[in-house]
Amino acid sequence: MTVCFEGLSLEDTSHIRIDPTHGSDRPRGLALPAQWWRETVPAWGSVSAEQFRSHRWQMRNAVTQPEQLRELVGDRAPAEFYDDVAEGLRRAPMNIRVTPHVISLVDWQNPTDDPIRRQFIPLGSEIEPDHPMCTLDALHEQDDAVAPGLTHRYPDKALFLCLDVCPVYCRFCTRSYAIGSDTDSVEKVSVRGTPRRWEQVFEYLRAHPEVEDVVVSGGDTCLLSPERTRLIGEALLDIPSVRRFRFATKGLAVIPQRFLPGSEWVQSVTDLVEKGRQRGVDICIHTHFNHPNEVAPHAAEAALALFQRGVVVRNQTVLQRGVNDHAGTLVDLHRFLSRINVHPYYVYVHDMVPGVETLRTSLADAIELEKDVRGATAGYNTPMFVVDAYGGGGKRDAHGFEHYDSDLGIAVYRAPTVDPDRPFFYFDPLRRLSDRVKRAWNRTATREAMIQTAVERAGMGWAS
Ligand SMILES: *Cc1c(COP(=O)(O)O)cnc(C)c1O
Ligand code: SF4
Repeated sequence: MTVCFEGLSLEDTSHIRIDPTHGSDRPRGLALPAQWWRETVPAWGSVSAEQFRSHRWQMRNAVTQPEQLRELVGDRAPAEFYDDVAEGLRRAPMNIRVTPHVISLVDWQNPTDDPIRRQFIPLGSEIEPDHPMCTLDALHEQDDAVAPGLTHRYPDKALFLCLDVCPVYCRFCTRSYAIGSDTDSVEKVSVRGTPRRWEQVFEYLRAHPEVEDVVVSGGDTCLLSPERTRLIGEALLDIPSVRRFRFATKGLAVIPQRFLPGSEWVQSVTDLVEKGRQRGVDICIHTHFNHPNEVAPHAAEAALALFQRGVVVRNQTVLQRGVNDHAGTLVDLHRFLSRINVHPYYVYVHDMVPGVETLRTSLADAIELEKDVRGATAGYNTPMFVVDAYGGGGKRDAHGFEHYDSDLGIAVYRAPTVDPDRPFFYFDPLRRLSDRVKRAWNRTATREAMIQTAVERAGMGWAS
């Protein structure tokens, strides 16, 4: 263990290990039998391949109530599991929404340990108290909004939230302040993202030629109608100063049926990509796979089709404890993604999001994992591990802290492009800190003193 400061080293990293399943040649997803959903989900015994391939069927049959889960899975899952889900939803009120595709990838005989279940369905038994610093909109996205749904924080790039719905709701979503209104169909969704509001965004971009790069996000852009996807893309293509933009969608992982050959949404994006290419404008898709089991047949088919049409797809992963915090899992994930021609981009160290402390890892874990992942394959095929620094510092290389004390669980980062004098942070979960340090975190005075000391050791003044 090399994360060691002032003679102190992290007490225990023995839990980080190469996953014994590492080295499997095929993703579990691609080894699934034909029409696997008929076997994994008892209630879908007669769902045809055509139905399952339909994104409309997927949207219509998304699970939004715990009772639906019981109806679908029945006694395949242990009875205590359903009580655990009910308790999880009672204590961490959140909308659940999971597509049949995702449901079909869960091992329902052991859902408690399943890495797919863990990302979308909370359990009472895994709730941990929030970190005492977990109070704000930790990334301050709202503070930097320059037009409704447009955040312009960095010199040449901006984040455009064009709709507020997703085909699934992730427990760990950092935008839980905005995401989560309920919906039943692709059609209904586009009501929320209104061209009227977007026009204000385009106006800002026209007036601010320094913005060359636009992240078109949400919500999930695959829920935009093909027409509206085209409308946004054409509007951006018509702004000469915009040189690059990306459509952010987790859909490829959670509702790949939206992207299968014949998809009108993919047609819109492909047309835009081709038009952009003529004009020297770089348009691509950013997606979000977290576990090798998500590399499933329809996802592979959709990704290959995008590749064959020349659409570049990059992946962003969220590091989550009990989901992908094993080196072997991360290596497999990126190996399998590169086989379906999806390029790795980021692994995000989990943000401080209320209600999901159980999913966070320490920074030391992330750093150790990065060392195991780097070198497993080509450098360009290796993700960068980043921390979206607490306080609005933006994404920092996880290794790039000014100071890190893993015994106190405080890392201090500098972000010169945001504010050269202000310290930004990552706070490790309290779970593996000593009892003495835990007590210190839970008292305001000692908490503030610890942070103050860390800032000084980072060689920074306190400039809040
Ligand atoms: C993440 C983000 C971007 C894009 O950042 P990249 O590092 O280029 O992927 C742009 N704006 C905001 C506000 C962001 O949070
Ligand atoms: S798909 Fe993205 S925006 Fe939607 S809930 Fe998940 S993390 Fe949040």
